[in-house]
Amino acid sequence: MVKSEVSVWEDCLRFIKSQVGEQSFKTWFEPIKALGLKESTITIQVPSQFFYEYLEEHYVHLLRECVQNQLGSEGKLEYSVIVDSGSVQNQPYMVTLPNQNKNQNNKWGRQPTEPEMINPFKMQSLDKDSRYSNLNPNYDFENYIEGDCNRLARSAGIAVAEKPGITSFNPLMIYGGVGLGKTHLVQAIGNTVSQHSEDNFVLYVSSEKFTTQFTDAIRNNNIQSFTNFYLQVDTLIIDDVQFFAGKEKTQEMFFHIFNHLHQNGKQIIMSSDRAPRDLKGLQDRLLSRFKWGLTADLQMPDFETRMAIIMRKMEADGIDIPDDVVEYLAYSVDTNVRELEGVLISLIAHAMLNKTEINLELAKQTLKNIVHDIESEVGVDYIQKTVGEFFQISVEDLKDKTRKKEIVIARQVAMHLCKEYTNHSLKSIGYHFGGRDHSTVIHAVQSVSDMMDIDSKFANSMDELRKKMKMKLV
Ligand code: ADP
Ligand code: MG
Repeated sequence: MVKSEVSVWEDCLRFIKSQVGEQSFKTWFEPIKALGLKESTITIQVPSQFFYEYLEEHYVHLLRECVQNQLGSEGKLEYSVIVDSGSVQNQPYMVTLPNQNKNQNNKWGRQPTEPEMINPFKMQSLDKDSRYSNLNPNYDFENYIEGDCNRLARSAGIAVAEKPGITSFNPLMIYGGVGLGKTHLVQAIGNTVSQHSEDNFVLYVSSEKFTTQFTDAIRNNNIQSFTNFYLQVDTLIIDDVQFFAGKEKTQEMFFHIFNHLHQNGKQIIMSSDRAPRDLKGLQDRLLSRFKWGLTADLQMPDFETRMAIIMRKMEADGIDIPDDVVEYLAYSVDTNVRELEGVLISLIAHAMLNKTEINLELAKQTLKNIVHDIESEVGVDYIQKTVGEFFQISVEDLKDKTRKKEIVIARQVAMHLCKEYTNHSLKSIGYHFGGRDHSTVIHAVQSVSDMMDIDSKFANSMDELRKKMKMKLV
């Protein structure tokens, strides 16, 4: 009995259904139509180039098995890909792709894990209105203050923005803690690219939104337009990729889009709240892609950079703020930039409500609500860290045997503060400073007291340090 393509394909589907999950079956196999059968070659119609690539990457073995079960070891598969779904007047335009031997040993050609992503076919192009970029025009490089904390990330960002897809920073991966400027930076890149070239389709999307769009697409049987949209992006910005963790299907889709765009010279920019090596729950093959380009981190801005950020923000709002207030705020808020902005906003609000000028008194009052006195819970580690930062020397040096004058002074100051703020015994304090004995601590406490009496500059520094120690955001 001569079989028809429909019955062969139905048998194939029955087999496939027993091998793949229900959702995958619905998504990737139900939309396929059997078009023809000639000798031992069956032709199936798939809705898009992407669809074809996806099948070839993920299901090549399964397809081979079922086709050969039906048509014997000579069994072959050809794809007919709908390139343009056409209109009433025009028939759909299709190309036929034989699934065959690029590689002599494997007549099914492509390796399933490393598909060639050459896409010579035109996709349905998006009209301008569908090209929403999701960018916030307020984020630019000009208002992204440079400091040691972000120098590499910022300059890589500028390089990428000037030549998207051309530098070796592809993908560009920015990582750093919350509120340190990841979104600002990646959006600044996007805005710059858009300004330089209107034709470059920039898309900013959070990984969460990408995930939702993808799941909606699966639910509504809309994978085709989802992928059609993403494959046309020229500069793809994915924010907070850590949210992809554990979402296998979404990662697969993203992996595929990533490969396609990357191979076509498109720029990919990503952000994450931790270093790629710490991204648990992300597939290794995806993580290895991230390493192809450049990974740059963002740190908490140092004191001077925080001052510059405050001044820049106040200037942008047209608000005058005295230097001592800028200094006080930069000093007190050392958690992240978003929090620093929050404090500035409440300071402005307080000034408006009370119809007063912004001054140190008001700044202190404003901060009082969010700052708590840590006197009772201050520990040796915290004192060492604070003193180290203040004198710009490392905690190791404080504990070390070094006799350099500036280190000796800093060490004595730290010991003095430990005596003043903690309940540690002299012996215990000595122990925490590299195992010194209690007489060294007594000597340190005495020397610092003496210096405060005779040197007013030194006494002021001690006051600054105490102020800093007591100020810590909750
Ligand atoms: P993240 O995405 O890392 O959580 P954001 O990019 O949302 O952080 O930054 C938080 C806020 O801090 C934003 O309003 C941003 O404009 C501001 N900010 C962060 N870094 C800088 C910087 N270097 N210069 C100016 N503003 C900054
Ligand atoms: Mg962000």
